[in-house]
Order: sequence, then structure tokens, then C-alpha cells
Amino acid sequence: MDPEVLVQLQRSRLFRNFDLKSLEADLVSCQILTLPKDAVLLQPGVLNTSLYFVISGEFIVTFDPLAVDVVATLRPSDCIGEVSFLDHNPPTTYVIAAVNSRVLVCPEAHMWKMLKRETEFPFNMLELLVERFREKNELLKTGLARVRHFQVRSEIDALTGIYNRSWCDEVFPHQMDLCERLGQPVCVAMLDMDHFKQVNDHYGHPAGDAVLRKAATLIRDQLRVTDLTARYGGEEFIVMLPATPSHEVMDKLNAVREHIQNTPFELPDGRSIQCTVSIGVVAWRAGLNLHALVSLADEALYQAKHQGRNQVVLAQNALTQRPSLSASKR
Ligand code: GH3
Ligand code: MG
Ligand code: MG
Repeated sequence: MDPEVLVQLQRSRLFRNFDLKSLEADLVSCQILTLPKDAVLLQPGVLNTSLYFVISGEFIVTFDPLAVDVVATLRPSDCIGEVSFLDHNPPTTYVIAAVNSRVLVCPEAHMWKMLKRETEFPFNMLELLVERFREKNELLKTGLARVRHFQVRSEIDALTGIYNRSWCDEVFPHQMDLCERLGQPVCVAMLDMDHFKQVNDHYGHPAGDAVLRKAATLIRDQLRVTDLTARYGGEEFIVMLPATPSHEVMDKLNAVREHIQNTPFELPDGRSIQCTVSIGVVAWRAGLNLHALVSLADEALYQAKHQGRNQVVLAQNALTQRPSLSASKR
């Protein structure tokens, strides 16, 4: 038998404590398969009836041969295909030669004949499967962390670090539902920085960015943790204030407005400027969904701008609609 094959089998976890000499006669009839780089050894949907041992080269295990995500790398003495060999189901991953490689192919029937004689085999196989199980768990953990990472990124505005509009579209309707069920008032406010274009024009875009970051902090400073804040887009923010009657909401938003007016905004070059914000606010009532609330708050905001900016205007939502619990909140 090829000495290199023997060396790799001796090092293999599956053959640990085996008397390979006694198996040599059986192993000698196993074929050696040479695979060029990128050749596919196993793939989903194609039944596998052999166990393979890497003699030389390297294989990658991947769910998608076109992606670069490698879930495992298999090297000389590693075993390939043990799961499909045991459960007779097609593999769930692709196993592809990363470089020119050689494997020893042990057909199922042949392999079982040998293995049944070996008392160590079940223990070795168990150890191997446990190792694979742990590897898969690690993979799952990394995958979940990545999902969470992208989930957070998809909800958080990169510039200000507060929630973004898609988070607002998801969460605000739920909060409206909750307030409706609890019989609590809820208001939505749109906040728009005044003459913000001039900040960019006079001090540059990075200065405008710094102002937006600071504005987000100042807005949140004045609100409770139960109030929801998001950057709606550009220099606009949206706030939802649950369980607060309109007159209290006006006080709170005026506090936000004054806080912004009275706080110097430091720019990256060390200068500091004054900024103001205009706010339009609307009180939710049955029949109004988030889209309708945003439109009404926008109208009030427009009025605040029209009346000279740096003020809070409460929408006179005389719109009469029949209360409807089933009305979509989005
Ligand atoms: P008004 O008081 O009527 O709201 O005037 P305005 O200048 O604030 O409003 P306008 O809509 O004319 O300009 C908004 C500006 O906000 C234009 C746009 O370039 C700027 N802007 C939007 N997003 C960003 C951003 O992420 N960073 C910076 N620096 N500027 C932004
Ligand atoms: Mg605007
Ligand atoms: Mg503006």
C-alpha cells in the first residue's frame, strides 16, 4: 500500500487505535481519486455512498460554491462524507478541492465490512461527530452574531447612531396599537432643522453632519426613555410620545426646541454656531395610521416654518374618520 496513504490513515481520527496492518488487505482495494483544483467531490442533492480520506491537498466545505463563505477546511488525514455515509441522505454542503488533491475512496459496503470488526470504530466515529457538532455550533453562533450585526445596522442611522426610518416604520405602529389597547394618548412629531442648508453652505458638509449628530443627542436629552426617536431622513427627526396628553407633549417639545436653541453646536473646526428647529405635532386618534399621522405632522411643520420657524405647531386634525380598530397602523 502507498506509504503516504498509510501515514494519513494512521493519523486519521476514524482509524485511531486500529490495527491498520489487519485492514491493509481490505484498504488496498480502495481507489485513490485524484481531483484537480476546483473539482467538486460532494454536493447537495447527489447521494454519497463512500467515505473519503484526504491523502494530500486541501478541500473546502461551503454551502454556496459561488460565494467565498468557507465553513470548514479539510486537510490530509481528515475524513469526508461521514454524515451522508451514516444517514444515507445527500450531503448538505459542497466539498470542493481547493488545490490539486488526492483522496482514498472507501465504498460504503466495503467500509462497513472493515469497521464492524473494529471495536474502536464506534468511539472514534462518535468523537468525530461530536467534533463536527461543535464546529457547526460555532458556525451557528458566528452566523447569528452576523445576523444581529446586520439587523442592528439596518435599524440604526449610521450618522447619528439613533434609530432610522425603517425602524420607525416597524416599531411606531406597534406602539400605536399598544396605546390604543391601553386607552392611552399618543402623539407623533416631525422635527426639521431650520435653514440647515445654510449650515452646509457656510461651514461645509462635515459641519452639517456634526450638527445633526448633536441635534439627535439634544432631542433625546429632553425625552423620556419611553419616547421613541428616529432620524426620518436628511435633517428631519421623528418622535413618538406615548401615554402623554397633547398639552404635555407641547411642553416637552418646546423644551426640546429651547434646548436646541440654547445649546451651542460645536463644529469640527472649533467654531460654534446656534441652530433652531421647527416642530409639527399631531395627536393620534382612531382611524389614523402612521402614514396619516406623518402627513398631518408635516402639515403642522410646514405651518411652523411658514410662521417664522423655531416653534412647535399642533396639527388641528379636524379630519373626521370613523374609529376603526382594524385600520392598518402603517
Ligand atoms: P428649512 O428651514 O425650510 O427646513 O430649510 P433647510 O435649509 O433646512 O431645508 P432644505 O430642505 O432646503 O435643506 C436641507 C438640507 O439638508 C439639504 C441637504 O443637503 C442637507 N442634508 C440632508 N442630509 C444631510 C446629511 O446627512 N448631512 C449633511 N451635512 N447635510 C444633509
Ligand atoms: Mg427638511
Ligand atoms: Mg430644514
